[in-house]
Amino acid sequence: MNSEARRGSEGHEAAAGTGRDSLRLEVVDHPLAQHKLTCLRDRDTSVAQFRSTVRELGRLMAFAATADLPRITRAIDTPMASMDAPAIDEARLMIVPVLRAGLPLAEAFSEMMPSASIGHVGVYRDAQARPVEYLVKLPTARTDAPTRCFVVDPMLATGRSAAHVLDVLIARGYALEEIRMVSLLAAPEGLDLLGRRFPGLSVHVTAIDSRLDENAYIVPGLGDAGDRMFGTEH
Ligand code: URA
Repeated sequence: MNSEARRGSEGHEAAAGTGRDSLRLEVVDHPLAQHKLTCLRDRDTSVAQFRSTVRELGRLMAFAATADLPRITRAIDTPMASMDAPAIDEARLMIVPVLRAGLPLAEAFSEMMPSASIGHVGVYRDAQARPVEYLVKLPTARTDAPTRCFVVDPMLATGRSAAHVLDVLIARGYALEEIRMVSLLAAPEGLDLLGRRFPGLSVHVTAIDSRLDENAYIVPGLGDAGDRMFGTEH
């Protein structure tokens, strides 16, 4: 596939005049979550500490992003009695890390939902911060029952990579109302883009920062999440 063909798709037309207000947006303003985010923001946090803190914060975000999961009932025997106990249907869950920075977040989600399938979408930003797709590996969407999809990407900056991943999922038969976008930091620009393109989308973030800089980095932000996670900063 040539680079033009791989470039971020614009499959869904933007809805006029809507932005962040069109999202179902949750800011996870829990003291533990905010404490861990501060650790990530701190430039003196080591690579090892950064990655393990992303996983810790990821578990908290998984807790928040699964609050409305449908419950099923399982007939079980406790050591004391039989009961119909609440459970979730892990066969209907998919975690989608946006490579590469989404990987530690996906590990955290997977620790909480070990039977969820994991789909991968690889997107990098070109010099103009446009998303360029280099990998899509997703399970075939089930037709008998909806799959709840957790798209995990620590940084929602311009929103263009996230929008590209959502286009890919929707084109493969996953329902928008079953998609949960999970990021640690978001910029207003990214939220507005997602709101315009995908009204009604559920988005969970730990914080919303003030702006993007001229290179589309979030300010105050935490720098390049992938570099800080994997020690590839120069
Ligand atoms: N991606 C990052 O890693 N950091 C930003 O600030 C924006 C996008």
